[in-house]
Amino acid sequence: MIQKELQPSALHGGDTGAPTRGASASAPRGGDWLSTIGQEIARVPLLLRHMRATWEVPGIDALQPAALERLGIRGIVWDVDGTLMRRGDTSVAGHLQSALDRLLAGGRIRHAIVSNCGEARFLALSRIFPEVPLLRVYRAPARLLRRLRLGDAERWSPGLPAAGELESARALRKPSPELMRFALAELGLPAAQVALVGDQRLTDIACANLAGLRSVKVQTLGRESFPFAVRCLQRAEEAAYRVLYRRTAHAGSVEAGSVEAA
Ligand SMILES: [Mg+2]
Repeated sequence: MIQKELQPSALHGGDTGAPTRGASASAPRGGDWLSTIGQEIARVPLLLRHMRATWEVPGIDALQPAALERLGIRGIVWDVDGTLMRRGDTSVAGHLQSALDRLLAGGRIRHAIVSNCGEARFLALSRIFPEVPLLRVYRAPARLLRRLRLGDAERWSPGLPAAGELESARALRKPSPELMRFALAELGLPAAQVALVGDQRLTDIACANLAGLRSVKVQTLGRESFPFAVRCLQRAEEAAYRVLYRRTAHAGSVEAGSVEAA
């Protein structure tokens, strides 16, 4: 479980220390969005069939803890950039802060963050959300390495990377369902009780669907804060969705606490 066995990071030099062993694996040349495209380009036909969210809302302020609980949601996996704040911002969008606080309060819903960001942003997010576990998975030559960061503390499983192991590893990115398997294990919940909240269909929503989670699609915050190429992909994604799903009725209302079969 999340809170056990956390140690101060062994791979980073404290709050401002640059990544050492993790650098080449988690912040590959070309940027986070380019890495995501590289990882998933061959799977686009599959992802196009998994773009439909369980629920669609304008923003997270439409999510009420009581309604989520009535729907059987006990855990949330969060996307950050475009969902909780503009890309690269250092605080939650002002109009969403109280809604997020409501969802985080009380401990009735468990939370984790899975972002496709690079290493520097990953470390920044751990300072922005010091009480929410951030999860990453790396595919090393011989095994998968799972990394949980909570504030400045980290835990790796099945154990700390060996010397040099991360240099030839790559960070898995949504929509890899492996990330959701890790999230479910850390949340201690079955897929049926967890929802992913995100703004992108081909990464966030497809990731949830491939892993058997429910999902909440929000409108992208600060679209202008994303690189031009990403904005083009976002528009292409929405166009594809409108064509492929134009005859599909919406699944239900998360605000009302009711949902039809997706
Ligand atoms: Mg996003």
